[in-house]
Amino acid sequence: QPAYDLSALRAEFPILKREVNGRPLVYLDNAATCQKPLAVIEAMDDYYRQTNANIHRGLHTLSQEATDAHELARTKVQQLIHAASSKEVIFTRGATESINLVAQSWGRANLRAGDQVLISMMEHHANIVPWQQLRDQIGIELLVIPILPDGQLDRAAFARLLTPRVKLVAITQVSNALGSITPLAEIISAAHAQQTPVLVDGAQGIPHQPVDVQALDVDFYVFSGHKMYGPTGIGVLYGKAELLEAMPPWQGGGDMIDIVTFEKTTYAGLPHKFEAGTPAIAEAIGLGAAVDWMQRVGVQAIADWEHQLLTYATQQMQAALPGLRLLGTAPDKAAVISFVLEDAHAQDLGLLLDQLGIAIRTGHHCAMPVLHHLGVNATARASFAAYNTFAEVDAFVTGLVRVREMLQ
Ligand code: PMP
Repeated sequence: QPAYDLSALRAEFPILKREVNGRPLVYLDNAATCQKPLAVIEAMDDYYRQTNANIHRGLHTLSQEATDAHELARTKVQQLIHAASSKEVIFTRGATESINLVAQSWGRANLRAGDQVLISMMEHHANIVPWQQLRDQIGIELLVIPILPDGQLDRAAFARLLTPRVKLVAITQVSNALGSITPLAEIISAAHAQQTPVLVDGAQGIPHQPVDVQALDVDFYVFSGHKMYGPTGIGVLYGKAELLEAMPPWQGGGDMIDIVTFEKTTYAGLPHKFEAGTPAIAEAIGLGAAVDWMQRVGVQAIADWEHQLLTYATQQMQAALPGLRLLGTAPDKAAVISFVLEDAHAQDLGLLLDQLGIAIRTGHHCAMPVLHHLGVNATARASFAAYNTFAEVDAFVTGLVRVREMLQ
Protein backbone atom coordinates (compact mmCIF):
# COMPACT_ATOMS: atom_id res chain seq x y z
CA GLN A 1 0.00 0.00 0.00
CA PRO A 2 1.18 3.57 -0.70
CA ALA A 3 1.71 6.12 2.07
CA TYR A 4 -1.36 7.97 0.73
CA ASP A 5 -5.01 6.97 0.35
CA LEU A 6 -4.96 5.40 -3.10
CA SER A 7 -8.70 5.32 -3.74
CA ALA A 8 -9.11 8.94 -2.61
CA LEU A 9 -6.23 9.89 -4.88
CA ARG A 10 -7.74 8.04 -7.83
CA ALA A 11 -11.00 9.89 -7.29
CA GLU A 12 -9.12 13.11 -8.06
CA PHE A 13 -8.55 11.94 -11.66
CA PRO A 14 -11.83 12.18 -13.63
CA ILE A 15 -10.45 10.23 -16.59
CA LEU A 16 -9.86 7.13 -14.45
CA LYS A 17 -13.63 6.71 -14.23
CA ARG A 18 -14.08 6.24 -17.96
CA GLU A 19 -14.39 3.03 -19.89
CA VAL A 20 -12.49 2.09 -23.01
CA ASN A 21 -13.99 -0.54 -25.30
CA GLY A 22 -16.50 -1.40 -22.62
CA ARG A 23 -13.86 -2.02 -19.94
CA PRO A 24 -12.61 0.17 -17.11
CA LEU A 25 -9.57 2.10 -18.33
CA VAL A 26 -6.22 0.72 -17.15
CA TYR A 27 -3.80 3.50 -18.03
CA LEU A 28 -0.19 2.29 -18.19
CA ASP A 29 1.26 4.80 -20.66
CA ASN A 30 2.39 7.30 -18.09
CA ALA A 31 5.89 7.74 -19.48
CA ALA A 32 4.33 9.18 -22.64
CA THR A 33 2.07 11.50 -20.70
CA CYS A 34 0.25 11.08 -17.42
CA GLN A 35 -3.28 11.97 -16.42
CA LYS A 36 -4.27 15.21 -14.70
CA PRO A 37 -5.85 15.65 -11.28
CA LEU A 38 -8.85 17.96 -10.79
CA ALA A 39 -6.61 20.50 -9.08
CA VAL A 40 -4.78 21.04 -12.39
CA ILE A 41 -7.89 20.98 -14.59
CA GLU A 42 -9.70 23.40 -12.29
CA ALA A 43 -6.76 25.81 -11.99
CA MET A 44 -6.70 26.20 -15.77
CA ASP A 45 -10.48 26.38 -16.07
CA ASP A 46 -10.62 28.96 -13.31
CA TYR A 47 -7.95 31.05 -14.99
CA TYR A 48 -9.96 31.28 -18.21
CA ARG A 49 -13.22 31.93 -16.35
CA GLN A 50 -11.92 34.54 -13.94
CA THR A 51 -8.59 36.04 -14.93
CA ASN A 52 -7.67 35.65 -18.60
CA ALA A 53 -5.51 38.55 -19.86
CA ASN A 54 -2.10 39.01 -21.41
CA ILE A 55 0.74 39.32 -18.96
CA HIS A 56 3.53 41.88 -18.42
CA ARG A 57 1.66 44.34 -20.63
CA GLY A 58 -1.40 45.83 -19.10
CA LEU A 59 -1.85 47.90 -15.99
CA HIS A 60 -5.44 46.74 -15.66
CA THR A 61 -6.51 44.38 -12.91
CA LEU A 62 -6.84 41.22 -14.95
CA SER A 63 -3.42 41.67 -16.52
CA GLN A 64 -1.87 42.20 -13.10
CA GLU A 65 -3.59 39.12 -11.70
CA ALA A 66 -2.55 37.01 -14.68
CA THR A 67 1.04 38.21 -14.38
CA ASP A 68 1.09 37.41 -10.67
CA ALA A 69 -0.37 33.93 -11.23
CA HIS A 70 2.17 33.20 -13.97
CA GLU A 71 5.07 34.31 -11.79
CA LEU A 72 3.71 32.39 -8.80
CA ALA A 73 3.86 29.23 -10.93
CA ARG A 74 7.52 29.99 -11.61
CA THR A 75 8.19 30.25 -7.88
CA LYS A 76 6.47 26.90 -7.29
CA VAL A 77 8.71 25.24 -9.86
CA GLN A 78 11.72 26.93 -8.27
CA GLN A 79 10.80 25.41 -4.93
CA LEU A 80 10.12 21.96 -6.39
CA ILE A 81 13.60 21.73 -7.92
CA HIS A 82 15.33 23.79 -5.19
CA ALA A 83 16.70 26.39 -7.59
CA ALA A 84 18.51 29.30 -5.96
CA SER A 85 16.35 31.88 -7.74
CA SER A 86 13.14 31.98 -9.77
CA LYS A 87 15.15 33.83 -12.46
CA GLU A 88 16.79 30.49 -13.19
CA VAL A 89 13.45 28.95 -14.19
CA ILE A 90 12.70 29.57 -17.87
CA PHE A 91 9.31 28.46 -19.18
CA THR A 92 9.43 26.64 -22.51
CA ARG A 93 7.05 24.36 -24.39
CA GLY A 94 8.69 21.27 -22.91
CA ALA A 95 11.87 19.27 -22.52
CA THR A 96 12.39 19.24 -26.29
CA GLU A 97 12.26 23.00 -26.64
CA SER A 98 14.51 23.45 -23.58
CA ILE A 99 17.24 21.29 -25.10
CA ASN A 100 16.96 23.08 -28.44
CA LEU A 101 17.30 26.38 -26.62
CA VAL A 102 20.51 25.29 -24.90
CA ALA A 103 21.94 23.81 -28.11
CA GLN A 104 21.27 26.94 -30.15
CA SER A 105 21.96 29.62 -27.57
CA TRP A 106 24.62 28.17 -25.24
CA GLY A 107 25.99 25.81 -27.89
CA ARG A 108 26.56 28.37 -30.62
CA ALA A 109 28.07 30.84 -28.17
CA ASN A 110 30.39 28.40 -26.41
CA LEU A 111 31.29 25.53 -28.75
CA ARG A 112 33.73 25.54 -31.66
CA ALA A 113 34.44 23.08 -34.46
CA GLY A 114 36.15 20.02 -33.01
CA ASP A 115 34.66 20.40 -29.53
CA GLN A 116 32.85 17.31 -28.31
CA VAL A 117 29.40 16.89 -26.79
CA LEU A 118 29.01 13.66 -24.84
CA ILE A 119 25.59 12.01 -24.75
CA SER A 120 24.55 8.43 -23.92
CA MET A 121 23.29 5.49 -25.93
CA MET A 122 19.88 5.66 -24.26
CA GLU A 123 18.94 9.26 -25.01
CA HIS A 124 15.50 10.21 -26.24
CA HIS A 125 15.61 11.72 -29.74
CA ALA A 126 15.06 15.09 -28.04
CA ASN A 127 18.58 14.85 -26.60
CA ILE A 128 20.17 13.58 -29.82
CA VAL A 129 18.78 15.51 -32.76
CA PRO A 130 19.41 19.09 -31.48
CA TRP A 131 23.10 18.19 -31.03
CA GLN A 132 23.27 16.64 -34.50
CA GLN A 133 21.79 19.81 -35.94
CA LEU A 134 24.42 21.83 -34.08
CA ARG A 135 27.09 19.44 -35.34
CA ASP A 136 26.00 20.06 -38.91
CA GLN A 137 25.90 23.80 -38.31
CA ILE A 138 29.21 24.41 -36.52
CA GLY A 139 31.22 21.19 -36.75
CA ILE A 140 31.15 19.84 -33.19
CA GLU A 141 31.55 16.10 -32.62
CA LEU A 142 28.99 13.91 -30.89
CA LEU A 143 30.27 11.08 -28.67
CA VAL A 144 28.05 8.34 -27.25
CA ILE A 145 28.51 6.60 -23.88
CA PRO A 146 27.57 2.92 -24.36
CA ILE A 147 25.40 0.86 -21.99
CA LEU A 148 25.94 -2.51 -20.36
CA PRO A 149 23.70 -5.45 -21.36
CA ASP A 150 21.32 -4.80 -18.43
CA GLY A 151 20.74 -1.24 -19.65
CA GLN A 152 22.82 0.68 -17.16
CA LEU A 153 25.31 3.29 -18.26
CA ASP A 154 28.81 1.93 -18.88
CA ARG A 155 30.63 4.00 -16.27
CA ALA A 156 34.09 2.80 -17.28
CA ALA A 157 33.42 3.89 -20.85
CA PHE A 158 32.16 7.24 -19.57
CA ALA A 159 35.43 7.76 -17.69
CA ARG A 160 37.40 6.94 -20.87
CA LEU A 161 35.33 9.21 -23.13
CA LEU A 162 35.43 12.20 -20.80
CA THR A 163 38.56 13.96 -22.07
CA PRO A 164 39.26 17.70 -22.07
CA ARG A 165 37.83 17.88 -25.60
CA VAL A 166 34.37 17.24 -24.14
CA LYS A 167 32.80 20.67 -23.59
CA LEU A 168 29.32 19.51 -22.59
CA VAL A 169 27.81 16.33 -21.18
CA ALA A 170 24.09 16.03 -22.05
CA ILE A 171 22.46 13.02 -20.45
CA THR A 172 19.12 11.67 -19.36
CA GLN A 173 18.26 11.16 -15.70
CA VAL A 174 16.01 8.18 -16.46
CA SER A 175 15.74 6.34 -19.78
CA ASN A 176 12.18 6.41 -21.08
CA ALA A 177 12.82 3.25 -23.11
CA LEU A 178 14.54 1.11 -20.44
CA GLY A 179 13.83 2.78 -17.12
CA SER A 180 17.53 2.87 -16.24
CA ILE A 181 18.55 5.60 -13.81
CA THR A 182 21.88 7.29 -14.61
CA PRO A 183 24.47 7.95 -11.87
CA LEU A 184 24.18 11.73 -12.06
CA ALA A 185 26.27 12.64 -9.03
CA GLU A 186 29.22 10.69 -10.38
CA ILE A 187 28.83 12.11 -13.91
CA ILE A 188 28.48 15.69 -12.74
CA SER A 189 31.45 15.60 -10.39
CA ALA A 190 33.69 14.00 -13.03
CA ALA A 191 32.63 16.57 -15.63
CA HIS A 192 33.06 19.47 -13.24
CA ALA A 193 36.53 18.27 -12.30
CA GLN A 194 37.50 19.43 -15.80
CA GLN A 195 35.12 22.45 -15.91
CA THR A 196 32.70 20.76 -18.32
CA PRO A 197 29.06 21.71 -17.74
CA VAL A 198 26.30 19.08 -17.62
CA LEU A 199 22.77 19.22 -19.03
CA VAL A 200 20.36 16.69 -17.55
CA ASP A 201 17.19 15.61 -19.36
CA GLY A 202 14.84 15.25 -16.41
CA ALA A 203 11.69 14.48 -18.44
CA GLN A 204 11.43 11.01 -16.87
CA GLY A 205 13.21 11.97 -13.65
CA ILE A 206 11.12 14.75 -12.14
CA PRO A 207 7.85 12.75 -12.01
CA HIS A 208 9.49 9.89 -10.12
CA GLN A 209 11.93 11.27 -7.57
CA PRO A 210 12.72 14.39 -5.57
CA VAL A 211 15.12 16.68 -7.47
CA ASP A 212 17.49 19.25 -5.98
CA VAL A 213 19.38 21.08 -8.71
CA GLN A 214 21.69 22.78 -6.22
CA ALA A 215 22.62 19.57 -4.41
CA LEU A 216 23.21 17.91 -7.79
CA ASP A 217 25.16 20.99 -8.89
CA VAL A 218 23.70 20.44 -12.36
CA ASP A 219 24.19 23.26 -14.88
CA PHE A 220 21.04 22.80 -16.98
CA TYR A 221 18.01 20.69 -16.04
CA VAL A 222 15.04 20.30 -18.41
CA PHE A 223 11.60 18.72 -18.15
CA SER A 224 8.02 18.76 -19.43
CA GLY A 225 4.88 19.59 -17.45
CA HIS A 226 2.69 16.90 -19.00
CA LYS A 227 4.72 13.99 -17.61
CA MET A 228 4.34 15.32 -14.04
CA TYR A 229 0.54 15.65 -13.82
CA GLY A 230 0.53 19.07 -15.50
CA PRO A 231 -0.70 20.19 -18.93
CA THR A 232 0.98 19.86 -22.32
CA GLY A 233 2.54 22.91 -23.93
CA ILE A 234 4.61 23.93 -20.90
CA GLY A 235 8.01 22.84 -19.67
CA VAL A 236 11.07 24.17 -17.96
CA LEU A 237 14.67 25.00 -18.61
CA TYR A 238 16.54 25.43 -15.34
CA GLY A 239 20.00 26.93 -15.78
CA LYS A 240 22.54 28.35 -13.38
CA ALA A 241 22.14 32.13 -13.40
CA GLU A 242 25.71 32.84 -14.49
CA LEU A 243 25.33 30.56 -17.52
CA LEU A 244 21.93 31.94 -18.51
CA GLU A 245 23.08 35.57 -18.05
CA ALA A 246 25.94 35.00 -20.49
CA MET A 247 23.79 33.30 -23.12
CA PRO A 248 22.31 35.23 -26.06
CA PRO A 249 18.53 35.13 -26.49
CA TRP A 250 17.25 32.33 -28.69
CA GLN A 251 14.02 33.71 -30.14
CA GLY A 252 13.31 37.41 -30.61
CA GLY A 253 10.03 39.24 -30.15
CA GLY A 254 7.86 40.89 -27.58
CA ASP A 255 8.38 40.45 -23.83
CA MET A 256 12.08 39.60 -24.14
CA ILE A 257 13.27 43.15 -24.85
CA ASP A 258 14.31 46.19 -22.88
CA ILE A 259 14.43 48.93 -25.58
CA VAL A 260 13.86 48.47 -29.31
CA THR A 261 14.82 50.90 -32.08
CA PHE A 262 15.35 50.01 -35.74
CA GLU A 263 19.09 50.29 -35.17
CA LYS A 264 19.45 48.25 -32.02
CA THR A 265 17.61 46.26 -29.37
CA THR A 266 18.59 45.67 -25.79
CA TYR A 267 17.24 42.65 -24.01
CA ALA A 268 15.31 42.05 -20.83
CA GLY A 269 16.96 40.29 -17.92
CA LEU A 270 16.31 36.75 -16.76
CA PRO A 271 14.04 34.92 -17.11
CA HIS A 272 12.21 37.07 -19.70
CA LYS A 273 15.17 37.21 -22.09
CA PHE A 274 14.32 33.64 -23.07
CA GLU A 275 10.54 33.99 -23.15
CA ALA A 276 9.71 35.77 -26.40
CA GLY A 277 6.06 36.34 -27.20
CA THR A 278 2.91 35.64 -25.22
CA PRO A 279 3.65 32.56 -23.14
CA ALA A 280 1.41 29.61 -22.31
CA ILE A 281 -0.17 31.36 -19.33
CA ALA A 282 -2.91 28.89 -18.41
CA GLU A 283 -0.46 26.04 -18.87
CA ALA A 284 2.08 27.63 -16.51
CA ILE A 285 -0.69 28.02 -13.93
CA GLY A 286 -1.66 24.38 -14.49
CA LEU A 287 1.95 23.35 -13.98
CA GLY A 288 2.04 25.32 -10.73
CA ALA A 289 -1.06 23.42 -9.59
CA ALA A 290 0.62 20.13 -10.55
CA VAL A 291 3.64 21.05 -8.40
CA ASP A 292 1.32 21.77 -5.46
CA TRP A 293 -0.46 18.47 -6.04
CA MET A 294 2.76 16.44 -6.17
CA GLN A 295 4.03 18.07 -3.02
CA ARG A 296 0.75 17.48 -1.22
CA VAL A 297 0.85 13.75 -2.08
CA GLY A 298 4.60 13.62 -1.51
CA VAL A 299 7.14 13.07 -4.28
CA GLN A 300 8.95 10.41 -2.26
CA ALA A 301 5.68 8.65 -1.43
CA ILE A 302 4.84 8.52 -5.14
CA ALA A 303 8.32 7.18 -5.95
CA ASP A 304 8.04 4.48 -3.26
CA TRP A 305 4.64 3.32 -4.48
CA GLU A 306 5.78 3.22 -8.11
CA HIS A 307 8.71 1.11 -7.02
CA GLN A 308 6.35 -1.41 -5.42
CA LEU A 309 4.28 -1.48 -8.61
CA LEU A 310 7.41 -2.03 -10.66
CA THR A 311 8.64 -4.91 -8.50
CA TYR A 312 5.22 -6.56 -8.37
CA ALA A 313 4.58 -6.21 -12.11
CA THR A 314 8.04 -7.55 -12.97
CA GLN A 315 7.51 -10.62 -10.78
CA GLN A 316 4.01 -11.29 -12.10
CA MET A 317 5.10 -10.96 -15.71
CA GLN A 318 8.10 -13.24 -15.25
CA ALA A 319 5.91 -15.87 -13.61
CA ALA A 320 3.10 -15.75 -16.18
CA LEU A 321 4.93 -15.21 -19.46
CA PRO A 322 7.54 -17.79 -20.49
CA GLY A 323 9.95 -16.40 -23.08
CA LEU A 324 9.52 -12.85 -21.77
CA ARG A 325 12.46 -10.59 -22.53
CA LEU A 326 12.76 -7.49 -20.38
CA LEU A 327 14.80 -4.65 -21.82
CA GLY A 328 16.42 -2.80 -18.98
CA THR A 329 17.04 -4.85 -15.86
CA ALA A 330 19.50 -2.51 -14.15
CA PRO A 331 19.30 -2.56 -10.34
CA ASP A 332 18.56 1.17 -10.33
CA LYS A 333 15.37 1.52 -12.31
CA ALA A 334 12.34 3.82 -12.49
CA ALA A 335 8.72 2.85 -13.16
CA VAL A 336 9.06 1.57 -16.72
CA ILE A 337 8.80 -2.02 -17.99
CA SER A 338 9.92 -2.41 -21.59
CA PHE A 339 9.55 -5.92 -22.99
CA VAL A 340 9.21 -8.20 -25.97
CA LEU A 341 7.55 -11.61 -26.26
CA GLU A 342 9.30 -13.87 -28.72
CA ASP A 343 6.11 -15.05 -30.40
CA ALA A 344 4.02 -11.88 -30.41
CA HIS A 345 4.69 -8.56 -32.11
CA ALA A 346 4.59 -5.53 -29.81
CA GLN A 347 2.12 -3.72 -32.06
CA ASP A 348 -0.33 -6.63 -31.91
CA LEU A 349 -0.04 -6.80 -28.13
CA GLY A 350 -0.81 -3.09 -27.88
CA LEU A 351 -3.84 -3.29 -30.19
CA LEU A 352 -5.35 -6.31 -28.45
CA LEU A 353 -4.72 -4.95 -24.96
CA ASP A 354 -6.55 -1.80 -26.04
CA GLN A 355 -9.58 -4.01 -26.75
CA LEU A 356 -9.44 -4.88 -23.05
CA GLY A 357 -9.26 -1.22 -22.03
CA ILE A 358 -5.54 -1.40 -21.24
CA ALA A 359 -3.33 1.40 -22.56
CA ILE A 360 0.36 0.69 -23.03
CA ARG A 361 2.90 2.08 -25.47
CA THR A 362 4.42 0.13 -28.33
CA GLY A 363 7.14 1.13 -30.76
CA HIS A 364 10.57 2.73 -30.53
CA HIS A 365 9.68 5.23 -27.78
CA CYS A 366 11.61 7.99 -29.58
CA ALA A 367 14.80 6.16 -28.65
CA MET A 368 15.61 4.27 -31.84
CA PRO A 369 19.38 4.04 -31.27
CA VAL A 370 19.15 2.14 -27.97
CA LEU A 371 16.52 -0.30 -29.25
CA HIS A 372 18.60 -0.90 -32.34
CA HIS A 373 21.61 -1.54 -30.10
CA LEU A 374 19.59 -4.13 -28.16
CA GLY A 375 18.55 -5.78 -31.42
CA VAL A 376 14.86 -4.88 -31.54
CA ASN A 377 12.80 -2.43 -33.59
CA ALA A 378 9.98 -2.09 -31.11
CA THR A 379 9.04 -3.00 -27.55
CA ALA A 380 5.85 -2.93 -25.55
CA ARG A 381 6.12 -0.62 -22.56
CA ALA A 382 4.07 -0.34 -19.40
CA SER A 383 4.85 2.66 -17.20
CA PHE A 384 3.40 3.60 -13.83
CA ALA A 385 2.20 6.70 -12.01
CA ALA A 386 0.97 7.59 -8.53
CA TYR A 387 -2.58 6.36 -9.21
CA ASN A 388 -1.89 2.86 -10.56
CA THR A 389 -2.90 -0.16 -8.48
CA PHE A 390 -1.90 -3.79 -8.00
CA ALA A 391 -5.32 -4.73 -9.42
CA GLU A 392 -4.42 -2.87 -12.61
CA VAL A 393 -1.12 -4.76 -12.78
CA ASP A 394 -3.10 -8.00 -12.43
CA ALA A 395 -5.48 -6.95 -15.21
CA PHE A 396 -2.51 -6.10 -17.40
CA VAL A 397 -0.70 -9.42 -16.82
CA THR A 398 -3.88 -11.49 -17.23
CA GLY A 399 -4.63 -9.49 -20.37
CA LEU A 400 -1.16 -10.17 -21.74
CA VAL A 401 -1.52 -13.91 -21.18
CA ARG A 402 -4.89 -13.90 -22.96
CA VAL A 403 -3.74 -11.77 -25.83
CA ARG A 404 -0.69 -13.93 -26.34
CA GLU A 405 -2.87 -17.05 -26.55
CA MET A 406 -5.03 -15.31 -29.15
CA LEU A 407 -1.96 -14.52 -31.24
CA GLN A 408 -0.69 -18.11 -31.24
N1 PMP B 1 13.35 13.14 -22.85
C1 PMP B 1 12.79 12.02 -22.39
C2 PMP B 1 13.61 11.07 -21.58
C3 PMP B 1 11.45 11.76 -22.66
O1 PMP B 1 10.89 10.63 -22.20
C4 PMP B 1 10.70 12.69 -23.41
C5 PMP B 1 9.23 12.45 -23.74
N2 PMP B 1 8.94 11.15 -24.20
C6 PMP B 1 11.34 13.85 -23.86
C7 PMP B 1 12.66 14.05 -23.55
C8 PMP B 1 10.64 14.87 -24.69
O2 PMP B 1 9.61 15.46 -23.97
P1 PMP B 1 8.56 16.39 -24.73
O3 PMP B 1 8.08 15.62 -25.91
O4 PMP B 1 7.50 16.63 -23.72
O5 PMP B 1 9.29 17.65 -25.12
